Amino acid sequence: MKVDTSTHASRAAFYNSLEWVHMREAILIRDNYECQWCKAAGRVTNINNAILEVDHIKPLEQFPELALDPNNLRTLCKDCHNKRHHRFNWAPRNRPAKKNKWATDERWD
Ligand SMILES: [Zn+2]
Repeated sequence: MKVDTSTHASRAAFYNSLEWVHMREAILIRDNYECQWCKAAGRVTNINNAILEVDHIKPLEQFPELALDPNNLRTLCKDCHNKRHHRFNWAPRNRPAKKNKWATDERWD
């Protein structure tokens, strides 16, 4: 299936497609309806205490060929999903300014 994810409208259409709805369900089942980040942190966040979403590890917009690849999908709770996308947005701007090359390079030779 060729997925067009180049525009906001085409991504919205993708998220409404039957292919995505089915794949999303398959990923939730695979991940036991449990947030994979919370699980890694030793917390149980699942369908009983959170809203679960399915995240594209490599962003849908840049990797349309991985849109329906189970290896590129994981279950996150809404909190983790929000955190992830905020970080994705602000990280490049908040990264510390590049230090002087000679101050950061470890040159022992
Ligand atoms: Zn979580």
